[in-house]
Amino acid sequence: MPEAMVASRASKGAGTAATQTVDVAVVGAGFAGLYLLYRLRKAGFSTVILEEAGDVGGTWYWNRYPGARCDIQTIDYSYSFDPELESAWKWSEKYATQPEILRYLGFVADRHDLRRDIRFGTKVTSATWDETAERWQIATNSGAKVSCGYYIMATGCLSAPKPPEIDGVKDFKGDIYFTGRWPHEGVNLAGKRVAVIGTGSSGIQAIPLLAEQAAQLTVFQRTPNFALPAHNGAPPAERLAALEGDRAAYRDQARWSMVGVPWPQQTIVSWQLTDAERRERFEAGWAAGDLAYILTQLWADQGVDLDGNRIVADLIREKIRGIVKDPETAAALTPLDHPFGAKRPCLDTNYYATYNRPNVTLVNLRAEPIKAITASGITTGKRSFEVDVIVFATGFDAMTGAIMAVHPVTGRDGKSLSDVWANGPQSYLGVSVAGFPNFFMITGPGSPSVLSNMAVSIEQHVDWVVERLAALRDAGFTTMEATEAAQAGWAQHMADCSTLTLHRLANTWYTGANVPGKAQGVMPYTGGVGPYRSICNDVVAQGMLGFRLSGPNGAEQCNDGEIVRLQPDVRLVLGLLAQMNLPPFETMGAQGARDFLTEFNKGRPAGRPVGEVGDGVLMGSEGPLPYKLYRPATPGPHPIVVYFHGGGWVLGDQQSDDPFCRDMCRRTDMIFVSVGYRHAPEHRFPAAAEDGYAATRWIAEHAAELGGKAGPVLVAGWSAGGNIAAVTCQLARDRGGPEIGGQLLLCPVTDCTFDRPSYVDNGANYFVTRGLMFWFWDLYCSPADRTDPRVSPLRGKLAGLPPAFVTTCEFDPLRDEGIAYAEAMAASGVAVEQLKARGHFHSSFTMVDVVITGVGGRIKMAEALRRFAGLPPEVKLPPQKLDAAAS
Ligand code: FAD
Ligand code: NAP
Repeated sequence: MPEAMVASRASKGAGTAATQTVDVAVVGAGFAGLYLLYRLRKAGFSTVILEEAGDVGGTWYWNRYPGARCDIQTIDYSYSFDPELESAWKWSEKYATQPEILRYLGFVADRHDLRRDIRFGTKVTSATWDETAERWQIATNSGAKVSCGYYIMATGCLSAPKPPEIDGVKDFKGDIYFTGRWPHEGVNLAGKRVAVIGTGSSGIQAIPLLAEQAAQLTVFQRTPNFALPAHNGAPPAERLAALEGDRAAYRDQARWSMVGVPWPQQTIVSWQLTDAERRERFEAGWAAGDLAYILTQLWADQGVDLDGNRIVADLIREKIRGIVKDPETAAALTPLDHPFGAKRPCLDTNYYATYNRPNVTLVNLRAEPIKAITASGITTGKRSFEVDVIVFATGFDAMTGAIMAVHPVTGRDGKSLSDVWANGPQSYLGVSVAGFPNFFMITGPGSPSVLSNMAVSIEQHVDWVVERLAALRDAGFTTMEATEAAQAGWAQHMADCSTLTLHRLANTWYTGANVPGKAQGVMPYTGGVGPYRSICNDVVAQGMLGFRLSGPNGAEQCNDGEIVRLQPDVRLVLGLLAQMNLPPFETMGAQGARDFLTEFNKGRPAGRPVGEVGDGVLMGSEGPLPYKLYRPATPGPHPIVVYFHGGGWVLGDQQSDDPFCRDMCRRTDMIFVSVGYRHAPEHRFPAAAEDGYAATRWIAEHAAELGGKAGPVLVAGWSAGGNIAAVTCQLARDRGGPEIGGQLLLCPVTDCTFDRPSYVDNGANYFVTRGLMFWFWDLYCSPADRTDPRVSPLRGKLAGLPPAFVTTCEFDPLRDEGIAYAEAMAASGVAVEQLKARGHFHSSFTMVDVVITGVGGRIKMAEALRRFAGLPPEVKLPPQKLDAAAS
């Protein structure tokens, strides 16, 4: 594209103190601001953009250091709002350089004549909500003021460079450059001794080129990062073909993906692959030169589980050792302190190989921290380096820096945003803040932003905000503000999401750890781009849930509440199940439902390897019953847990809870024997109860043969299996044994009434429905028998039962009867612990490796079982046996 088209035709920063009155003021003319202006104009809002820089571009205006490029393939890191733009502009490289991206943004500005509403060279210094006028009053460094109905900060997540925080910078007599503020005219480093401080993405991109230019380059590294080769070149033909084959579908896939790049959701987990298969996948990822690919496509557990992550990390470390010739330098460059992807990995061209050059030295600041910058160079704890130039590639006060730099932003009742955010950013959806009406952030903290292809996230935010403003206007409202309840709910959901991924395990700018004194916490939304989009859509569908809208003459609408109360992965699972539009089990007939379940279970992730899994036959109350035995990898004998599967006394079998049994076997270091008790309607009440009791007695009597420890057995069960476990404890107490050391009841059925609040609140939308439970009861038990304690243990005698651990889930129809049983046992003197699992549904804990947020609960359940067996609660998990051939 011709340079001339990008020539700055900036409207001048107004040097006048006159107040400009507009509908909307936008701060920032980067990717976000430009698209905002385009959309706001189209929607009929008068708009001005205030921009500190001398032209459009944002990130790509400021970051002109050698080697600056995008690290998301450029065909993906592009606007999608203008289909003609997509054919009018052709990217020359897979990862375009900064000048090319800047030209592109200039081209977009020209194409839509955007510059005429942008005031360049104008820095916003403060913003105040005028409660009476219901307008924001914006002050700028030029003295020009703006009065606007809506104030939108499109100020960028990575636009406020971080100060160097090193003593003596002012004393340095040579030249100092910041990668984030690189001079427009370029820098001549020929013959110079150059120091670079920082090895994040900016440093890693710049270092190979600085090394080619400088006489001597010394790199000061505090934390080594993972870097992957970009393998830059022309845009890959197959990706271009996919895009050009069906642009709309390609872009849509990106919008609903996890990171904003159209790769499918990976479902295979690491232990389902052999070593050779994992290596093959990794090598393909390494060769692809694509961060989004390697972060999402190798195996599903790499971003959520340390075991799965370690495999990728080790393979990258192996590559580093293979490239860097000096072993000491290779060791210093090898990241060991954080999981791969927890900190933003880098995409490089010749980064590691650069350390093989004779003019490049790495200084490991972990071994010799910088003491000070002096007039002539840099002094560490061990030595001094004389240099002519220092390049700070030290990063940004990310996500909140540019927003807080406008100070004060004063909202309702004189509240300052800096005070509200003193302990970390609070927001609703990362787009608005309670107490700050008509104030919006594009890709603010609390949204996926920097954990995604930002072009996609920016477009989603801009579309959502502009559509809300238009809808507000159409409905006759003038203000829009997040409620405190919605914001608190979002904080909870953010925290829940953050336990899912590994980002919390790294000190990084994602968490604020790079800025001394900054409040710590994972700032971007870690739940994924597609899920986030659906949440934003849900807010609208639910009548602007969590927003207070107001207008003239006291008009007000406030549908208050929390947009996500489910755990994030539970929400995804329920969403997928809803999309499958499955017929209700109760319409399939018992055999049809069993066949369906068997097929359905084939699609779930395999259970994790344990020491041994075997099949056998035991004696039930009226004949032989199959069982499945899960033995730990450690030497026995082990305590035995007799396990009863779920399935409403109708469905399932001894292996239908296989992933749960394996997981609990590993976590408890105990034998699990899963019993194939008889089912209704072929065998109605009390068949399942009597089988449960008989099986427990048989297992206790044959403990030694099974490799079990002498002494009491434990019982456990889920759902109807929890019912059988509870009943078994009552029968064992009343029939003289066997001795039971403790009971784990997971979402148990305990009573035959259906009017508790959880049946009412959760009866329809959480997979196990009221209708299904009615069907199960009808098939298993006639109304006359239902109050028998062998099916309604809540109605039995509860004193003298073994200690119990009862888990109930918030969004389960069976929640309240489980709680009632726990409370009633406790009232009868039984030692009871309860886990009331917030945001979970009936299947949360048995969907091992699908509902990752269930891990914490399973740890607690395993600890309880160990205590019941007289063992210390913690068990060191055996190292993951990684070969898929393992049992
Ligand atoms: P910015 O581009 O940061 O624009 C914000 C603008 O606001 C700036 O021009 C700034 O001057 C202006 N501003 C801020 N405060 C004020 C104020 N008080 N008054 C007036 N003006 C103000 N993301 C990706 O998804 N893929 C990539 O490959 C990628 N590569 C990157 C490479 C680098 C070197 C950096 C630093 C970031 C990269 N990012 C990447 C993130 C990048 O920031 C976003 O992709 C995107 O460019 C952000 O656009 P934006 O408009 O939101 O913010
Ligand atoms: P960064 O990732 O925060 O890296 C800053 C580096 O400086 C880190 O190595 C940091 O060490 C070091 N550092 C900071 N303060 C220091 C100090 N006082 N003393 C010594 N070392 C210090 O910043 P960045 O490299 O500018 O990248 C920021 C983000 O921008 C990236 O993660 C990415 O999202 C985006 N970006 C993308 C690209 C791209 O490839 N497209 C390029 C550049 C930037 P510690 O790790 O120990 O803090």
